[in-house]
Amino acid sequence: MSAAAIVPATGIVPELAIAAMPDDERVWVPQAPDVWFRPLLLNTVNGGWCNLLRVRRSGVLSRHRHPMLVVGYVIKGRWRYLEHSWVAEEGSFVYEPPGETHTLIVPEDCPEMITFFNIAGAMIYLDESGRQTGYEDVFSKIEMCRAHYTATGLGTGFVDQFIR
Ligand code: FE
Repeated sequence: MSAAAIVPATGIVPELAIAAMPDDERVWVPQAPDVWFRPLLLNTVNGGWCNLLRVRRSGVLSRHRHPMLVVGYVIKGRWRYLEHSWVAEEGSFVYEPPGETHTLIVPEDCPEMITFFNIAGAMIYLDESGRQTGYEDVFSKIEMCRAHYTATGLGTGFVDQFIR
């Protein structure tokens, strides 16, 4: 059957095929000092998001719990979790199981790490005693993106292209 003979369904939201790391620095949303994320897909239907995480400092970044699964692919640099012996190196694939709590650390000899993460559900941030200090979900990510893109001149609606 040729592609032309297929009757397209109606109501499908558009696909995405975009440069993950364009030259425009403004796509990177500041998350903490020397930490940014670049949204790629903000999934309000299943609850989750795909983004690039970029870190240009070393040391502990966060302790967090995942209620749902996370997969990642390291594009540049390296990082690890204090709770595990393995190191996620450039080119590594990572699966983080639901229910796990871990502490993200970037080693001192790594000036920049960039990792693609597909995060389902939410990130729950914890202090050293395990008490919750905050959370992120797709809706808080959308709010952060919208505020940043408005402030930097990309526009209030710029984030909408990533939302499904
Ligand atoms: Fe994690």
